[in-house]
Amino acid sequence: MYVYLDNAATSRFKPQGVYDALIYDLKHSANSGRSGHADAVNAGLKMEECRAYLLGALGGEGTHSVIFTKSCTEALNLALFGFIKGGEHVLTTANEHNAVLRPLYELKSRRMISLEVLEQEDDGSIDISKLKEAAKHADIAIFGGVCNVTGATLDIAEVAKIVKEEGCTLIIDGAQTVPLIDIRLEDMGIDMLACAGHKGLHGLQGTGFLVVKNGTPLRPLVYGGTGTYSDSVIQPVDIPEGFEAGTQFSGGIAALTEGARWSFEHAPATRKLFRQLAEKALYDLKNIGCTLYSANSDSGVIAFNIGDADSGYVASLLDSEGIAVRSGLHCAPLVHRKFGTLAQGMVRVSLGVETTPRDMLYFANAVSRIAAKVL
Ligand code: PMP
Repeated sequence: MYVYLDNAATSRFKPQGVYDALIYDLKHSANSGRSGHADAVNAGLKMEECRAYLLGALGGEGTHSVIFTKSCTEALNLALFGFIKGGEHVLTTANEHNAVLRPLYELKSRRMISLEVLEQEDDGSIDISKLKEAAKHADIAIFGGVCNVTGATLDIAEVAKIVKEEGCTLIIDGAQTVPLIDIRLEDMGIDMLACAGHKGLHGLQGTGFLVVKNGTPLRPLVYGGTGTYSDSVIQPVDIPEGFEAGTQFSGGIAALTEGARWSFEHAPATRKLFRQLAEKALYDLKNIGCTLYSANSDSGVIAFNIGDADSGYVASLLDSEGIAVRSGLHCAPLVHRKFGTLAQGMVRVSLGVETTPRDMLYFANAVSRIAAKVL
């Protein structure tokens, strides 16, 4: 039996449309937005179709634009390095991934921003009243909706309301959030949303995007050929072309339309599945005597340890039984600082849309055998 429980790193399931779109693009390889022949034009149109689909699904039609990137990390870098002018006070939380924290700490070390990082509570959640107070002093607020380590969720609608009332620019890290948490870009006042294509949207690694509210002053990170204004040596700054210099991953983007379409359509069923399976898993892990770092199960992400056993050792024992999980520090140092697990790490289980109750039973039995050995 093989059980893949590492979907927060990258989702294993890809809908058939993703395979079909990628293979079609490979068979008709052409450089989108550059040449004028039919296949090149068609590849460009497929990219436009993806932008339109994402904006519709995220509630940003007519108000926001999509810039394709190679990852959520690149999208977050663009949102921060491309937007911050210097002198801003930025608010974030200790639940964030290094894709948010490292750009912020770099900007802080360059003395470009001042930074406030809200600590988590003991259950991993962020205290909304503290966030409300801190937002009063912030120019920019940047948060994820789901912590990639513990699965703790942040109510994006509530938080957006608070920070927008204080006049902050709001940036959301959607890597673990979309489409599990409903995002309505315009209604919620979200200025920028960074997202990965290869996680909850069931597309390919090497795809990501930044959605930007029209009119947001942004500078490109990457300079080069855009297929536009080619008589000039100066980088255009029109969104999206000016921000997508270089040959694009048109096959990945065409596949992303299909992955995203499937994922948004199935989001209600996915939420239900994750809640049911994760609730049971939390119950089982607790009964076995594991240390749990996840209080809620809605996101399908659960972090635990078995006694003081190294998380890598536990993950390797699970791997030898055909169960793929992730161990270590999950690129989120401030979560491990909070829970005292910088040395031990945490074992993280993340459910996928194909995970079954039988998979979870197999997993719980394996953990139980390891615990009998280790505890
Ligand atoms: N933010 C969070 C919360 C994540 O979990 C990840 C990926 N682990 C990222 C950002 C970065 O995504 P990517 O690796 O696709 O750049």
